[in-house]
Amino acid sequence: MKRIETHGLTASYGDFQALFGIDLVLEPGETTAIIGANGAGKSTFMKALTGLMQTEAGMITVDGQPAGARAAHQIIDTGIAMAPEGRRLFGSLSVEENLLIGQRQSRSGPWTLDRIYKTFPILEERRKLPAMSLSGGQQQMVSIGRALMSNPDVLLCDEISLGLAPVIIEDLYKTIVTLGQEGMSIVIVEQDIARALSVAHQVYCFQEGRVSLGGSVDTISREQITQAYFGID
Ligand code: ATP
Repeated sequence: MKRIETHGLTASYGDFQALFGIDLVLEPGETTAIIGANGAGKSTFMKALTGLMQTEAGMITVDGQPAGARAAHQIIDTGIAMAPEGRRLFGSLSVEENLLIGQRQSRSGPWTLDRIYKTFPILEERRKLPAMSLSGGQQQMVSIGRALMSNPDVLLCDEISLGLAPVIIEDLYKTIVTLGQEGMSIVIVEQDIARALSVAHQVYCFQEGRVSLGGSVDTISREQITQAYFGID
């Protein structure tokens, strides 16, 4: 398992600067919640981490070594995988084909189709069906499964509970806790702060493209989080 750090990560959309030098550490086996209001830069940060977005300045290191490769497929080879917001599946491909897309020859480990199906049995039942025919919760399982198929060291979950029934969210979070216990680093971006904090070891609050607060969940109070979230002095 690997330690990922970002140093001064900066990114823009054209003239609009979305990230202003993000410093953050993802410890092996720890779950990190990234919270912040709409537009704070959470998704942009995740995209920068996975190579989906070019950064302008700053560096990502994996176990202290600069992650030189910037293309998305190369980042997956370094062990960072994302279950994206809105799922982004190939709707007309089958569940199984979508899962297999996540597989990487360069990365072996415990996650195989077999294990994904043991974790999410409904996906085995529906493996031949087009992904778009599944319910929202099931599609989210495919998204997480596809990310796990690369046997990542770090799993990035971008609003995975969006639009799902509470009982499904409960199940997904149980899976996340298990993955963490097995040593995977997990990053959770969620609108539901309480939910994210309930499983997180550390929390970073983003505000207008900067980290306004960061540290261990045990040492940060709810008041500090509210303050950092809304920018109240
Ligand atoms: P949300 O919770 O709404 O997803 P977020 O914290 O993830 O918010 P981002 O999506 O990272 O925030 O957006 C950060 C800023 O960058 C916002 O001001 C947003 O309007 C802007 N932005 C995001 N995507 C683009 C884009 N494709 N083109 C231009 N500006 C963008």
